[in-house]
Amino acid sequence: MRVLKFGGSSLADADRFLRAADIIANNAQQEEVAVVLSAPGKTTNKLVAVIEAALKGSDAEMQIAEIEDLFRGLLAEVQQTLPNLDPSGYNHQLKASLSQLRQFVNGIKLLGMCPDNVNARIISKGERVSIQLMKAVLEAKGQAASLIDPVEYLLASGEHLEALVDVELSTENFRAKPLPQGHVNIMPGFTAGNEKGELVTLGRNGSDYSAAVLAACLRAECCEIWTDVDGVYNCDPRLVADARLLKSLSYQEAMELSYFGASVLHPKTIAPIAQFQIPCLIKNSFNPQGAGTLIGQDSGEDKLAIKGITTLNDLTMVNVSGPGMKGMVGMASRVFGAMSSAGVSIVLITQSSSEYSISFCIEAEDKARAELALKEAFELELKDGLLEPVEYIDNVAIVTLVGDGMRTSRGVASQFFASLAEVNVNIVAIAQGSSERAISAVIPEGKISEAIKACHENLFNSKHFLDVFVVGVGGVGGELVDQIQRQQGKLADKGIVLRVCGLANSKGVLLDGQGLPLEHWRDRLNGASEQFSLASLKSLVQRNHIINPVLVDCTSSEVIADQYADFLAAGFHVVTPNKKANTASMSYYHQLRNVARSSRRKLMYETTVGAGLPVIENLQNLIAAGDELERFSGILSGSLSYIFGKLDEGMSLSQATNIAKDNGFTEPDPRDDLSGMDVARKLLILAREAGMALELEDVVVDQALPPGFDDSGSVDEFMQRLPEADAYFQELTAKARQEGKVLRYVGEIADGQCRVSIAAVDENDPMFKIKDGENALAFYSRYYNPIPLVLRGYGAGTEVTAAGVFADVMRTLGWKLGV
Ligand code: ADP
Ligand code: ASP
Ligand code: MG
Repeated sequence: MRVLKFGGSSLADADRFLRAADIIANNAQQEEVAVVLSAPGKTTNKLVAVIEAALKGSDAEMQIAEIEDLFRGLLAEVQQTLPNLDPSGYNHQLKASLSQLRQFVNGIKLLGMCPDNVNARIISKGERVSIQLMKAVLEAKGQAASLIDPVEYLLASGEHLEALVDVELSTENFRAKPLPQGHVNIMPGFTAGNEKGELVTLGRNGSDYSAAVLAACLRAECCEIWTDVDGVYNCDPRLVADARLLKSLSYQEAMELSYFGASVLHPKTIAPIAQFQIPCLIKNSFNPQGAGTLIGQDSGEDKLAIKGITTLNDLTMVNVSGPGMKGMVGMASRVFGAMSSAGVSIVLITQSSSEYSISFCIEAEDKARAELALKEAFELELKDGLLEPVEYIDNVAIVTLVGDGMRTSRGVASQFFASLAEVNVNIVAIAQGSSERAISAVIPEGKISEAIKACHENLFNSKHFLDVFVVGVGGVGGELVDQIQRQQGKLADKGIVLRVCGLANSKGVLLDGQGLPLEHWRDRLNGASEQFSLASLKSLVQRNHIINPVLVDCTSSEVIADQYADFLAAGFHVVTPNKKANTASMSYYHQLRNVARSSRRKLMYETTVGAGLPVIENLQNLIAAGDELERFSGILSGSLSYIFGKLDEGMSLSQATNIAKDNGFTEPDPRDDLSGMDVARKLLILAREAGMALELEDVVVDQALPPGFDDSGSVDEFMQRLPEADAYFQELTAKARQEGKVLRYVGEIADGQCRVSIAAVDENDPMFKIKDGENALAFYSRYYNPIPLVLRGYGAGTEVTAAGVFADVMRTLGWKLGV
């Protein structure tokens, strides 16, 4: 004997209903089957709406008509496929149910209330009609079918709306009145009968439990729960796109998962099947061939420490605390006693070890009752100040990790909390059962999606998402987008989903929370009109619950650099080749680092000095290991490296500058290079990295032009005037040559001073050979002395710079890259 249960989602329309019937008929050909059915689709919600309308004094005709239409439509469609179907039983049941419903509505209107026994009878109507249709469908297919009345067979106790079935006594009923053999026996889910013979319901979503109870009473070989997903996933598949299907679960794991929110299975389902060790299979009625998830004695094939992550929403956390709590025997029992007599169920409990406080979570809808009960129970203590006023924290949720294997594996909790911290989730409370099978954190409800995504990414080695917003898509930014486009496939193979969710230039912005398609992105951006703003990016990130947003600033704009602190605070990593932020005031410099630390985001700027060369990283490593920078000298500008190299070859300054400009080695306005300010900024970044608290004004800058040279006017005017500087450089070059030296434009840090100037260097100097656009950086440190640590290579160019930015973007993933 197998018990097959079909949920509302598997019966929501004619097509699904007929699929369910096919599955039942196929199974019935192999062996005896009993079937438990829910109400189709969201019928039960509609019945609840009828009660709510009636309580407001309405005749609920609109709601009732909706239900009638749904059932009539269902029949009409089913009949199109099965014209021989006999609808009389169904129509009779529907008519009777609707007329009873109207009577109940009148009663509720008169009374102004709906007693629980009436409530139970109303909300269970959907199941009653549902089974009539299944019987008719099976019979039309030539399959004998009978109905089981759960009020007659399943004996339950407890509240009318949350009853519990007594399996032993109910088993007796099945023995006393055996079900007809060779028939598919169909039972409506969700209901049972109490000892007075009244209909009771088993709690919302209770049909799973009905199936478990029926399987237990019949000692079935298997209880199959047919639903709309392939089985139990490690996360709610609605929240996490790449949630993983679990092959198997132990009863205990399934219990914890469902208790803590995996709505695929009602928590009460497990006890009866575990008691009789009946395997339970969760299957998809849309994909009957799928293997489904098997719940059984042991954790099974999936040798995972953590099986799943679940969430429970709409909770309130209650904090009972006060000096009177300490050592007072029976305090906990009084608190929970008060809750129990008020009918408030407690979801999770924690107590501080000082016994100064007890905290617990309840469903938000129970808050008023809990408040009243606690006020009454502790009236005296509250008055005497032995208890502080009870604290209620609304809108909290619980995230829970579940897995039998967590007992034996270390570090799970730390990864769990690190993941929550990564998405800036403030943990309100923590609880771990002594079974160590579940560990829960109470968090603000608004953060649920981010929390689940981050835990899933980090704890299941699943895909890592990196969502990039590139601002400034000219040279470096544009090249970066092209590089990303080329690399996306390879990264995906390694489990890293790198998406460009935003592109912006000075004219417009393109945004897409799921990642922009990158074909023809330039054309599409040209057509964009919306303006870039922190607010629009922030709201996109929030709407899409993006957990790893990265702002890549490829502009040279001060306005954007001034917003880095806000971006970091809003949860963005910031990656930039723009030097403006790091050379703004020292106080902003510190502010950026503080915000990055507190919001656990990264600020990456490797390409601000030496483009793609690993300058910042190496310097940071030296300093972190206790080394100290004593002196630095370097050629930090690709264009000036080129121009000064040409002077060695006898070329004049103006000629060299012209060629450099024509080849795109200089900024569009070569004065930006010749002024020395760009080099000064790079030098300041290095000096600050080495621990020196300097401002840009502190850097002594001798421009790469004769002193007092007139650099006014347009670019063309300036270039025309530039030959006037040639003689000065010829003289300097000749003098240097006499001494066996060459001229270089050097940035230097020495004795706590930063200086940018033209220097004559001899052949022993690491800068001597640096020309043709190459950069060189010589770090003289405590450990690297007298021979410095020298980094050299191309320090400019869109490709190498974009590749350096790309590497920084990847580094925001931190330790996950090694996973
Ligand atoms: P039914 O109508 O069959 O009773 P439910 O809606 O009650 O179906 O339960 C199935 C739904 O449970 C799925 O559609 C899925 O969105 C949700 N769900 C939540 N958590 C999980 C999980 N961990 N694994 C599978 N499904 C889950
Ligand atoms: N129809 C009931 C409900 O929606 C029971 C169930 O489907 O499990 O709560
Ligand atoms: Mg369900």
